[in-house]
Amino acid sequence: MSLLQTGDCHAFEAGGQRFVYLAPSAAVLAVDDVSAAVLDAVAVQARSADDIRADLLSGGRFAAGDIDESLAELVRVRALNRVDTPVRPPRKVVPLTPVPLSTMVLNVTNQCNLSCTYCYEYGEDKIVQTENGKQPKMMSEDTARESVEFLLRESGPDAHMTFFGGETLLNFKVLKTTVAYAKRRAAEVGKTIDFSMTTNATLLSAEVIDFLTEHRFGVTISMDGPPDLQNKFRVFHGGAGSYDVIAPKIKALIKQHRSRPIGARVTLTKETLDVRRIYDHLTNEIGFWEVGFAPVTASPDRPHAFGDEGFENVLGEFRDLAKDYLAAALENRHHGFSNVRETIGEIHKGASKAWPCGAGFGLLGVSTAGDVALCHRFAGSDDHKLGTVRDGIDRAAQHAFLDAHHVSDKTDCQKCWARPVCAGGCYHEAHTRFGTTNRPNLHYCDWIRGWTDTCLQIYGQIAQRNPAFLQQFEDTHEAPQAS
Ligand code: SF4
Ligand code: SF4
Repeated sequence: MSLLQTGDCHAFEAGGQRFVYLAPSAAVLAVDDVSAAVLDAVAVQARSADDIRADLLSGGRFAAGDIDESLAELVRVRALNRVDTPVRPPRKVVPLTPVPLSTMVLNVTNQCNLSCTYCYEYGEDKIVQTENGKQPKMMSEDTARESVEFLLRESGPDAHMTFFGGETLLNFKVLKTTVAYAKRRAAEVGKTIDFSMTTNATLLSAEVIDFLTEHRFGVTISMDGPPDLQNKFRVFHGGAGSYDVIAPKIKALIKQHRSRPIGARVTLTKETLDVRRIYDHLTNEIGFWEVGFAPVTASPDRPHAFGDEGFENVLGEFRDLAKDYLAAALENRHHGFSNVRETIGEIHKGASKAWPCGAGFGLLGVSTAGDVALCHRFAGSDDHKLGTVRDGIDRAAQHAFLDAHHVSDKTDCQKCWARPVCAGGCYHEAHTRFGTTNRPNLHYCDWIRGWTDTCLQIYGQIAQRNPAFLQQFEDTHEAPQAS
């Protein structure tokens, strides 16, 4: 008789209720006592069904029929797996027909007026070479218009345009003319278009704030927290910190631009890891609606890069702040820790990713010269080019990329219960760490699994105690974001 072992799932507990997260379907199931006992029975070692049944019957808590039913159901959903049955890898389905483009990220400049020590655009981790003159410092109005036409050709009925840099506002001139052109052309072809941008906030003038307000821009501001943390890495070329310059400008923007929430994006490093203090400052002192944190992308030999211990510390800090999110959610209060919101949103929608993000299909980056790339972080890199805004997407290159990066080809990920939300992780992180986008980011699996487990627990508690809170994640399509 074949032995049964824990299957392709992750068991967890939330608020006294047992659950399993099923990797093949990305479903979260509440399990009853008998199923929980069956799962416990195989937690340490594989056992036969007869052995499990005898064990559970001897305790006198469960009837034979219930145990058999539970065994059959757990095998069916693959929470239990027969030892002699190989784990099936996720099915590989690569779309042959073009996937509509949802978000185009326009790198309107590759120049910046700050020189943040950890920035991937500069220093030794840089991918894109601008010295040979192939990538102009600023995108021209012509290229921006061609990019608009490209987006409107490739998108479905709703198009999202994100402006990025370098420092995006160094090319405010092109931003203004492009938005006017895009609105007119979108109306002519019967599509909707909306705009967002990422900025370091140094160039937020009254004119810029009026413009962002008028055109209902989604704004994300790169900011690392209170003065001592912001000024550690986010400095001007002469070395002066940027906090005093940006803080009043951001407050002015938040005061005036009320139609869309303004968010902060924090880059965490080994030396600036103080999540709660950063969060409190950015929400209470500055007034951001949401704050998202991302560990720095850097080669492991950089002094600010995270090693194993660093990721564990990030997880500890995240878990601490996530408790506040849960408390707020149970009382229907807003909490702006966006990392939790994004992950529980994916869990609630049953997201099961074949690729880690939309890069290369739903999201594309455009370089200052008009080259189309996987995403904004690869824009201008010849090795990651998928066409141009003039000539369109190179479908053969796009298909080859999606085929080569499907989660079913990542051996370690095939067996990992967190693959529905991770699928191997960011290509840019992998390229920086390993020199290739093909490798899964195995250096941070513990962190990803630990964080997903935390979010599953939060999700489980909300689902039991305040399920109405989860309605906000239903029927909403979030366009892929530039990160
Ligand atoms: S990179 Fe690691 S955590 Fe992510 S799916 Fe692959 S094995 Fe799992
Ligand atoms: S997760 Fe990485 S590869 Fe994907 S869009 Fe973001 S930066 Fe690009």
